[in-house]
Amino acid sequence: MIGSGVVFRTRSWIVLGLAMLTVGAPAALAADCPGHPDALGTSRTLVVDPREHPLIGTMQYRETLPLKDHEVVLTFDDGPLPKYSNQILKMLDDECIKATFFIIGSQAKANPDGVRKLVAAGHTVGTHSMNHPLTFDRMPIEKAEAEINGGIAWTSAAMTDPSKQLAPFFRIPGLMRAEGVENHLISRGIQVWSADFPADDWRHVPSDRVYQLAMQRLEAKGKGILLLHDIQARTVAALPKIIRDLKARGYRIVHVVPATADRPATPTTQVEWLLHPPTETTPIARWPRVPGFVFTETRTLPAPSLADLNAQTEHRPLLPRKTMALANVAATLPVPGRDLFAIPEGSVEVLQSTTLSRRAATRLAMAASTPRADKGKAARSHGHRTAHAASAAPKAASKHAAQAPAPKSPAPRPTRVASLKKRA
Ligand SMILES: [Zn+2]
Repeated sequence: MIGSGVVFRTRSWIVLGLAMLTVGAPAALAADCPGHPDALGTSRTLVVDPREHPLIGTMQYRETLPLKDHEVVLTFDDGPLPKYSNQILKMLDDECIKATFFIIGSQAKANPDGVRKLVAAGHTVGTHSMNHPLTFDRMPIEKAEAEINGGIAWTSAAMTDPSKQLAPFFRIPGLMRAEGVENHLISRGIQVWSADFPADDWRHVPSDRVYQLAMQRLEAKGKGILLLHDIQARTVAALPKIIRDLKARGYRIVHVVPATADRPATPTTQVEWLLHPPTETTPIARWPRVPGFVFTETRTLPAPSLADLNAQTEHRPLLPRKTMALANVAATLPVPGRDLFAIPEGSVEVLQSTTLSRRAATRLAMAASTPRADKGKAARSHGHRTAHAASAAPKAASKHAAQAPAPKSPAPRPTRVASLKKRA
């Protein structure tokens, strides 16, 4: 009995030791990529609920994925096309990177095995329409719906269990967004993915350019969703360099998956879904600072539209409805118009003259216009210098322009507007 007790105790220590090893293992395995000790790997999985944040990607929307600094999500569109998709897949596998693929229905129809390979490798698979028409911004909604459904149907057909393997993620072909299409997708619980930056790999540029653009644009934003295409030779050629650089510069890959009944969304706060709080000193075409009350009001109290008043009031309460609130966010927050940035000449004087005497207003106007003339002159001569520098060294000049702080004083407005126009 004693002997067996000793054996039992010894065994229990071994079991305990094994258990501790197992508990310690996930951290080690996360950084580990079998056979590839220097792999970039995937640092974490982000679970998102499409219904909570239906429009993402700062190229077009206010919100993007709640990534931390130096976190990157890789996305690949337009496949699968065996010749290139298989090479991309191998590179990602070798680095233990998980990405998101937006499948075209006709490609899935022609190459269902390509879809199965993505699923087997653990990547996230969303869709990208049936035939990739670049007219989503002007086609009738019925046609858009048919395109969306075709892509979903053929991608699903390639899967053994689409209910688990197909993510409710959709990227509009060519990013040709339209409110009607967005609202349709939102109503179906499908998340619309724009991106935070492309690498222009669909254009006729060398692969080195794709690599440079990917890294430059990522460095400018510090994190985000990178848009690539797994049907291009130049992307295949650029990807190893991109991965190598991501590793060298300390970037981490995040894998995004949709929330399900047994996989709740990663807890986040609203502000994490904004890329950066926009600042006056960063002259990048971003969403302008919009007063918080606009969003608060829109979220909780959507203004009833005419359609609301006319239709089916007996079936649904007028206010508040979450889906309509979300739809109204999309409806009321289009891409910011340029006139948002432009402050009309003389607006200060006009505003002031309403509260001051006419003589005082005239004095103020004269005082205000004198230094502006000087600064306008300075801005013009600066512009001339920049243009001159640009012709001499385009790379250095454009880099300088991208990093130059925006003028803080309100006086040289023409410069701000002009620089925005230049960037657009
Ligand atoms: Zn595409």
